[in-house]
This record gives sequence, structure tokens and C-alpha cells, in this order.
Amino acid sequence: MSLSRNHIHSLQQSVLTWFASSPRKLWWREDKQDPWVTLVTEVMSQQTQMERVAEAAEKFLQKYPSPQDLAQETTAGVVRAWRGLGYNNRAIRLRECAVQLAQLGKFPSNYQELVALPGVGDYTASALLSFCFELDNPVVDVNVSRVLSRVAAALSYTDEKLSSEQIREMAVALVPSGRGRAWHQGLMDIGSLFCRARSTDCDSCPLLSCASRNRLTFRKAAVKKERSYYGKPRRLWRGAIVEVLRDSSVAYSVERIAQSVGLSGPEQTEFIVETLQLLVRDGIVSAAGAQQSHMRYRLKE
Ligand code: SF4
Repeated sequence: MSLSRNHIHSLQQSVLTWFASSPRKLWWREDKQDPWVTLVTEVMSQQTQMERVAEAAEKFLQKYPSPQDLAQETTAGVVRAWRGLGYNNRAIRLRECAVQLAQLGKFPSNYQELVALPGVGDYTASALLSFCFELDNPVVDVNVSRVLSRVAAALSYTDEKLSSEQIREMAVALVPSGRGRAWHQGLMDIGSLFCRARSTDCDSCPLLSCASRNRLTFRKAAVKKERSYYGKPRRLWRGAIVEVLRDSSVAYSVERIAQSVGLSGPEQTEFIVETLQLLVRDGIVSAAGAQQSHMRYRLKE
């Protein structure tokens, strides 16, 4: 999908001008962002609303102002500090990443070294390079993919999108030289404020040259249904179990955990055992005891 030079210029100007007076102020966004602060806020915002991240990240960074501080924390300590954010695996990977950064003694500033860090994928590495090291590499998240698709092609439905190759090609061509940070953050904010997945506010959106402007009709995207266990997905049961263990200084039996999360009976207890085993596998919970019937669980220290 190629855009004309004029269209590229007009999009860049629209995003940069709008972002310069954007109503959305996030405290960690500065002209040159700190990589540790950026890593923490990006990891947190992957599955958590920005407003919640703004509050949680401030507290987290007061406690762990550098990778060295987090590297010295226990697993249980970081899971406790992650309270309210969900998806506790992110906290574990972030701590592993901090250990590696502390060993390196510096923050890597190239893509290959960044993606080699635990929990850092293409998006986070690209965001760090663009936001902190001022490189002109593309940063593509769900908001950017959605906005670029709609801007370039005259789409009819909200669930339509260009292919990832087309989006990537556009993302590379569109980064304004030396202005990558403002460009990407502006595009992401437009995606969450005006050009949302299920609805658009084209009349307020600054992208006047968008090909899909006032054309989109809502259509529910086909999503793979998450398997439900006793009324909810396993990830919510995992979160409920971690919540039970989070503040306890003693280890709990399976029965006590099952009872605390509101499950009982042999089949449901078996489900709790399976879920605890997954938490042990992921390094969040530790188990002690020779036999299953006497096993006790707590957050991993
Ligand atoms: S004009 Fe409408 S469809 Fe285009 S980017 Fe803005 S909100 Fe999205």
C-alpha cells in the first residue's frame, strides 16, 4: 500500500500538530524519555488501561527507581508490587529483565540486544528505540495498525484491516525523520481517543485526509472464544489464586485456596491443582510437600 508524497506529508503534519497540543498528558512522556521508566510503563500498558498505568507506574518506580533495585527484589515482592495490574507473568518477566540489565550495567540501545531481554518483543524494543534513543524505526501496536489501515484504505467496517505486511510498509514510510517519538505517541493517542476498535469519532479526529473518514460501520470482529471454567477463563482463576496468596506469609493447602476463590468439590479442586501447577511452572508460585494431598503453596520468594 503506497501513499503519495503529499498524503504522507499531510498525515505527518496532522499528527504532529495535534500531538503538540494533545489533551492527553502522561507524566513519563518527555522529549527524551528514560529507558527504564519507558520499559516499565510500556510493559504495564500492554494489558492495562492507561489511566491505571499512570498511577501504578508512579508507585512502582518509586519503589524500584532503577533495574538494579528491581533485580534485588524477590519474585513474591514484585508480584505484590504488581497488585491491581493483572497478568502477573509480566511482573516476573520484568524482574528477569531487570536482573539481566543489572548484569549488563547499561541499557542496550540496539534492536538485537533489546529483543534478547526477557519479556521484550518487537513492539517494546521498537518503542524504546523510538521514544528513548530517537531512532526513526517504526513502532506498531494495535492502535497504530488500526489507524494506518483506515487512513490508507477506504474501509467500510470497523473490523477490516490491511495485511501486516502492508501496515509494516506504511509504518516504515511514514515515520517523520527525527520526530518518531511524537509521531508514534500521537498516532497511538488518536487510536485510543478517536479511532477506536468498535467506534470512531471522525468529526473530532485531526486526520482530515483519512480514506475511511465517516465511512465505517461497526461490525463485531470474529474473536476466538476463550475457554471458560466454572463461569470464567482460567486466567481470571489464576489472578484470583495469586490474590489469595499475595498477602499471606504462610503457605496454603489446595483446599484452603479452592475455598478462598469460591470453588469446592473434587472436580473443582482438581482444576485448582492444575492451575496452581501452571503458576508453579511460570515461576509465580512455589509448592512444598512430598504428596499432593499435603502440598502447600505460596508466592515464590
Ligand atoms: S478520520 Fe475516522 S476513521 Fe479516520 S483515523 Fe480519524 S477516527 Fe479513524
